[in-house]
Amino acid sequence: MDGKERLRRLAALDRKHLWHPFTPMDEWEREDPPLIAERGEGAWLIDVEGRRYLDGVSSLWVNLHGHRREEIDRAVREQLGRIAHSTQLGMGHPAPIELAARLARLAPRGLTRVFYSDSGATAVEVALKMAFQYQRQRAPARPEKRRFLALNLAYHGDTLGAVSAGGIGLFHRVFAPLLFPVLRAESPHALGCPGGAGCPRCSGEEAAAQILARAGELAAVIVEPMVQGAAGMIVQHPGFLQKIREACTEGDVLLIADEVATGFGRTGRMFACEHAGVAPDILCLAKGITGGYLPLAATLATEAIFDAFRGAPAEGRTFFHGHSYTGNPLGCAAALANLDIFERDKTLDALQPKIARLWRELEGLRGLPQVAEVRGLGFMAGIELVKDKTAKTPFDPALRMGRRVILAARKRGLAIRPLGDVVVLMPPYCVTEDEIAWMVGVVRESIGEAAGVS
Ligand SMILES: *Cc1c(COP(=O)(O)O)cnc(C)c1O
Repeated sequence: MDGKERLRRLAALDRKHLWHPFTPMDEWEREDPPLIAERGEGAWLIDVEGRRYLDGVSSLWVNLHGHRREEIDRAVREQLGRIAHSTQLGMGHPAPIELAARLARLAPRGLTRVFYSDSGATAVEVALKMAFQYQRQRAPARPEKRRFLALNLAYHGDTLGAVSAGGIGLFHRVFAPLLFPVLRAESPHALGCPGGAGCPRCSGEEAAAQILARAGELAAVIVEPMVQGAAGMIVQHPGFLQKIREACTEGDVLLIADEVATGFGRTGRMFACEHAGVAPDILCLAKGITGGYLPLAATLATEAIFDAFRGAPAEGRTFFHGHSYTGNPLGCAAALANLDIFERDKTLDALQPKIARLWRELEGLRGLPQVAEVRGLGFMAGIELVKDKTAKTPFDPALRMGRRVILAARKRGLAIRPLGDVVVLMPPYCVTEDEIAWMVGVVRESIGEAAGVS
């Protein structure tokens, strides 16, 4: 069967049986031809017909060192030669043990305990339940501290606890009757701050005041540190996070940092909290933890939190949470190999000139009439498209501008996915400077093409 026939057959089966995540399925059914990626090579995806696409969003923000990295491939194969899975309930396994020790060493200070799960959303569920139960079991107990504060436009995953903490209307509104109430603070302004240097919203003063005002009832504050990715790459000043940390400490409220997107070098530092010199009480990790190979997540906690769960079984202080594949050894083996690459290749050092190049290239997009703002940090960039740049009027959502841009980019060999009308660029770290320049050039042309037909 040649490539074209295979694509036709697979597309027909897909349309008949699949239900894609976050995808308006009517629109997907009309996509012709759909992109069906079959293989990967470094920063590139190869579809069933052999066409190549630069993986411009790292396969939805997960891939770090590229596809088919020999060291990770080998680590997974070697683990497969031992065992694919054994449970973490009532027994251990070397790979999750070794990984826990590595993560505790790498993470911001004080985060010594590692609780595994399978996705970013579950890492967040674990964090929320842990914080809630901690307040009931600490000495002296503070059961009245049972609420959470999250940022407006937050995204923490799609399970119901994570959706409760989330604040993106389009994703979360329909489930409102199922959710528990969460206090909200405004995230920093995107699309230009009207408040200037002293803006209380952008400085974190406003959020800090809200935390302190309700500290007596707050179990924890949950934030995506430095960059709110799914909100469209809303960037915080380091001071924003510092203010929140100070308020949490003063108010005796736990700080949960959701570094599912920002962790493992994505912002140019190992963890985004490092930009602000802040250590959270609970840290959620997923996406890049296995280098983009396998679903694995970890929630790290301090020893003080862990201690509140000690006691005789009959006291019922145990953390009753777990998943069948918690701490999966294949995932942990991939994660260990991923961390080895960071050390051996000095990935974070090698990334700095590429980050500089990305932002130099992106500078050239700011002048485009459809580009309202280019924002981000490190290897996380968002390009916000608008109909009127001066008035900052958005395009009619029915035009699907962001989507038009990515379809135009796909024709040119760049695979990306937008967030509404924010075009996202988050390439794997192995991308070359020439590829970065080419990628941004393709985005420029694609914006031109999309705007021309609107
Ligand atoms: C992607 C993401 C999640 C959810 O992770 P999944 O693995 O998709 O469940 C949670 N928080 C943040 C900040 C994310 O970007």
